[in-house]
Formats: sequence, structure tokens, C-alpha cells
Amino acid sequence: MDLDFTAAEDAFRAEARAWLTAHVPHTPLPSLETEEGFAAHREWEGTLSADRWSVVSWPEEYGGRGASLLRWLIFEEEYFAAGAPGRVSQNGINLLAPTLFEHGTDEQRARVLPSMASGEVIWAQAWSEPESGSDLASLRSTAVRTDGGWLLRGQKTWSSRAAFADRAFGLFRSDPDAAKPHQGLTYLMFPLDADGVTVRPIGRLDGKPAFAELFLDDVFVPDEDVIGAPGQGWRVAMSTAGNERGLTLRSPGRFTAAAERLTGLWRETADPSDTALRDRVADAVVKARAYRLFAYAGVSRIAAGGSIGAESSLNKVFWSELDIALHETALDLLGPLGELSDGAADAPAHGGWAEGHTFSLAGPIYAGTNEIQRDIIAERLLGLPKGRR
Ligand SMILES: Cc1cc2nc3c(=O)[nH]c(=O)nc-3n(C[C@H](O)[C@H](O)[C@H](O)COP(=O)(O)OP(=O)(O)OC[C@H]3O[C@@H](n4cnc5c(N)ncnc54)[C@H](O)[C@@H]3O)c2cc1C
Repeated sequence: MDLDFTAAEDAFRAEARAWLTAHVPHTPLPSLETEEGFAAHREWEGTLSADRWSVVSWPEEYGGRGASLLRWLIFEEEYFAAGAPGRVSQNGINLLAPTLFEHGTDEQRARVLPSMASGEVIWAQAWSEPESGSDLASLRSTAVRTDGGWLLRGQKTWSSRAAFADRAFGLFRSDPDAAKPHQGLTYLMFPLDADGVTVRPIGRLDGKPAFAELFLDDVFVPDEDVIGAPGQGWRVAMSTAGNERGLTLRSPGRFTAAAERLTGLWRETADPSDTALRDRVADAVVKARAYRLFAYAGVSRIAAGGSIGAESSLNKVFWSELDIALHETALDLLGPLGELSDGAADAPAHGGWAEGHTFSLAGPIYAGTNEIQRDIIAERLLGLPKGRR
């Protein structure tokens, strides 16, 4: 692995930095978990996409720049360092798009990807059900065959930003007689404003209303919205999950930028004799940099024809624990002021540390809980015997 960037990569970084300096809003947008913030973030997606910065690694025909994964990492570093807004189209770009690239048809890619890149259509992930989270294969929502398509029935829950999103993608049981739970599942896309869909916000710790559960009552989905073959949904879904836990959900730029801000906060606020707190800041910086190097190594391996596979579970456990530690350290540095959220006029960093902390607490849960990831690491990476289930 070459640790130096080429002149072309440096030029790409400089171009991204210049664009971000010129375009990132000076005042943070309202939280994307609110209706007003969701609309503002959708507009930001349009701004990014107008200059082809919303999906840099996609082919140009779908709105990207055909950039390598390495350049994508560079772009993300610049993006977070510039304090640019959170990505409201994250579920579509990071989860559905890679799935369509791998399992979709040309027609689906041409129909779905451009409006995803521009923020015109924002996607929600509809996988979890009230009794099917970790054990996703036990899901009970059904897709029943009808003329020209399928009728969806059941309940999905914990769907991020579904209260304001336009469409969703999810897994449904299409063959209730299949021999095993992960067989007979079908992966479908559906509109959230269709007849038969009820979207109900679920209360969050911070009171923001975008998180939702979905009730589906004979929702019609045409055949063209099935991804992969009917009955093969599990295989399709596993490629989405690998992307989610691995690189695309949490690129290292997010943590290196947060660690830099934490260092700044330490300089501004800390009592230098508090070596315990100082060590926690240093620990966060070291871990963020280590994660960055690990990500660069992973991307180099992919570029050389390798894959990430079960190692994505290592990434997931590492970044989710780092995120919590980083934010807890920031709140300890800020003292009582750190409790103020974005609604308070004198909240530090416009409430960013408080909001980031609340969200970080969910990191070990979403994208597959860390307990499950540790099982995967133990069994598939370390070759340890299977635990008792
Ligand atoms: C902020 C947030 C956003 C989310 N967004 C989405 C979304 O957009 N779309 C979506 O579909 N879902 C979403 N989820 C749901 C998320 O994927 C699930 O919460 C997660 O998979 C865990 O499922 P569960 O909540 O049913 O917990 P359970 O599966 O009931 O697990 C409860 C506890 O038991 C442990 N456990 C369960 N089975 C095992 C086992 N075999 N071995 C060891 N420990 C085990 C778990 O690790 C956990 O600690 C989101 C969740 C959160 C918190």
C-alpha cells in the first residue's frame, strides 16, 4: 500500500475543498430529523448534485464522477472537515444504490439512481419489524402475488427518516412455505405515499419526529420494483448489510474531523492539569487516525481485487464505540453547557455535540447490534466455535 497521494488525488482534494468552502452553509441547517430540516437538507442534496458532488464514486451517467473509492474517502474527509450538513439521502446512497449496482437491472438503475443522486427522491430502509431486528430472517411481513406485481402486508419499524422520506426498500416473505426462514424472501421498493401505507413517527430521545414505523395494508408494488429474483431477497439483502456495516455508512472523515474539533475544544476549555481528560482526547484522536489507516488499507485491498466481507463487522464495532467515547469526552469538557441542544441560543457548536452524543448512543444498535457483530468476528474472522444461541 502506497501511503502517498498522487498529484491527481491532491488536485481532487483541492477541488473538493474549494467547492465546499464556497458552498457549505455558514450556519448549520436545522436538524434533518425535523420537517423543516429535512426540506433544507433535501435542497442541500440538490446543491451537491448540481456540481456532481453528491455521489462522487458513481458512474457519470447516474450523476457521479466515476471517482475511485480512494477519492471517495478523500472527498469524505474534506466534507466532514468543512462541517458540511449530514446526508439526508444516506440510506439511498449508501444502502440501496450499492444493492442496485450489484443486483438491479439496467432499467432500475436508470430509473432510480439519478433522482436519488439529486435528492428529489429520498429513501428509507424498511427492514426491521417489531419482532425481527437481529433475527431479521424471522420477519413476517408478506408480499402476495397479484396481477403484474405484489401486495405488501405487515408492519415495519425503526425506519430512519421515514416520516418525511418518499420511498422505501425492504424485505418481505413471498413464500411462507419455504423450508428455511431466510428462503422465500423478496426485496422490493415501494412508495411511502401509496394507498395502504400508514407512516407513524416513533418518539426519539431528543423528541425529533422523523423516525417512524410503517403499517402496510395491501400496498401494490409492480414487478419492476423487485430487486433480484423473487424469493432471493436474503442474498440481495446481505450485500446491502455488508455495505452498511463496512465502509459506506461511516467513512473515517467523520471521526477524524470530530477528533480535530475535540482537540480544539480541549484547547479552549480544558484544565491542563486534568490528565485523565487529556488522555481521553488523545485516545479519540489516535483511534480516529487508526480507523482512517484501516479504511485506506481496506480500500487498497478492494482496488487490488479483494473484498471486505466479515471485516466490515470489525469496522462497525470500532466506529460505533469510538463515536460514543468521542462525544462523551466532549460533553465532559463542556460541563453543564454540553447538555444544551440545538433549540438553545447559547448551545455550544449549535448543539452539535449534544445531538451527536444522543445519536452516537444508537451506533451499537443500528446496522446490526455490536453483540451480533462480535459473534461474526469470533466465528468468521477468528474461527472460534459457535456460541450458544
Ligand atoms: C437509531 C436507529 C436507527 C435505525 N434505523 C433503521 C432503519 O432505517 N431501518 C430499519 O429497518 N431498521 C432500523 N433500525 C433498527 C435496527 O436495525 C435494530 O434495532 C437492530 O437490528 C436490533 O434489532 P432489535 O431492536 O429488534 O433488537 P433485538 O434483536 O431484539 O436485540 C435485543 C438485544 O439482544 C441482543 N441479541 C439478539 N440476538 C442475539 C444473538 N443471537 N446473540 C447475541 N446477542 C443477541 C442484541 O444484540 C440486543 O442487545 C434502527 C435502529 C436504531 C436504534
